[in-house]
Amino acid sequence: MGLTEYECPSCGGVMNFDAASQMLLCPYCDTKIKVSDYTAPRKEEQDKDAKADSNEWLNEGNEWKPGETDGMVVYSCQSCGGEIVASETEGSLTCPFCSNNVVVKEKFSGDLRPDYVIPFKKSKKDAMDAYAGYVKGKLLLPKVFFAENHIDKIRGIYIPYWLYDAKIDADYHFEGTKVRTWSDSDYHYTETSYYDVTRTGSEDFAHVPHDASKEMPDDLMESIEPFDFSDAIPFNSGYLAGFLANRYDVNAEATKDHIVERMGNTIESDIRETAGGYSSLRVLSKNHNVRSLSHKYALYPVWLLNTSWNGKNFLFAMNAQTGKFVGNLPVDKFKALLLYVLSAVGFTLLAIIVCLIIITF
Ligand SMILES: [Zn+2]
Ligand SMILES: [Zn+2]
Repeated sequence: MGLTEYECPSCGGVMNFDAASQMLLCPYCDTKIKVSDYTAPRKEEQDKDAKADSNEWLNEGNEWKPGETDGMVVYSCQSCGGEIVASETEGSLTCPFCSNNVVVKEKFSGDLRPDYVIPFKKSKKDAMDAYAGYVKGKLLLPKVFFAENHIDKIRGIYIPYWLYDAKIDADYHFEGTKVRTWSDSDYHYTETSYYDVTRTGSEDFAHVPHDASKEMPDDLMESIEPFDFSDAIPFNSGYLAGFLANRYDVNAEATKDHIVERMGNTIESDIRETAGGYSSLRVLSKNHNVRSLSHKYALYPVWLLNTSWNGKNFLFAMNAQTGKFVGNLPVDKFKALLLYVLSAVGFTLLAIIVCLIIITF
């Protein structure tokens, strides 16, 4: 998935999707166009053909429209295996995940067309400000991290997700207990009553996300979740203009069991909630029947910030919908030692003062 170039109809410059206005914006002449209104200025002939075909394409679902993937290439990272789709003119040849060099692998082809996209809501500046806020007040951080220019690379990237809808019937048989205790002057009494508890129900799930990319570190990805699906809109490649897109490399098929297991856990805790009032509830038998399960393909927006220090690569990420910012920071050993010495000295001084006060009185 990726980026055809969006040529500005006024000046011919390359337009980008602008998070602030949620429109395509030309950085040269400030022309703004709604993504859904954009038509390529010098491709009228091509577009006519595309429109003539469009009915056919609409029914196919998950297919790219003719011409939509023109100019896209796949960049492949030799180090982490990440595959990134970008426009042919994308200048930077650095992996957004691990900062290693990447090579152009092939012309883009084959992948599914996404069903949904959550467009970028946070700008590059928002991401820089979030970084500044994140490192602020971190006493043990090496000084260089506070310099704005220490960030080597900041890239907006769409991360692929499978979104699952499902309807699952559930049957539960529990052994419930209720415990009553009381005492008189001679004894303590405990009475345990046993109950046969059964519950049946059905639960609907909508848009349960599963990460479809191997390269994006799982811990980082989980920490910037959740994304709010209510902002998702039908996919249009215009929302990708000026950004990268990570190619999905985990098939929906491979994530199915995991997602059904997660839904199963949700069902069990929801069912338990309907059987309150017991001291304990032990599952004797349970049965989940997956009545329907389907998936859609979506792209969610993330800002990735890379920096290096002492030969190590540090990666920070911001959820570009909600602004949630995460990352790992190193500890400056010298600063840590200094802080330790200072607090030790401070403590010793305090102890001496306390002794003096005691001696004085
Ligand atoms: Zn322009
Ligand atoms: Zn890489």
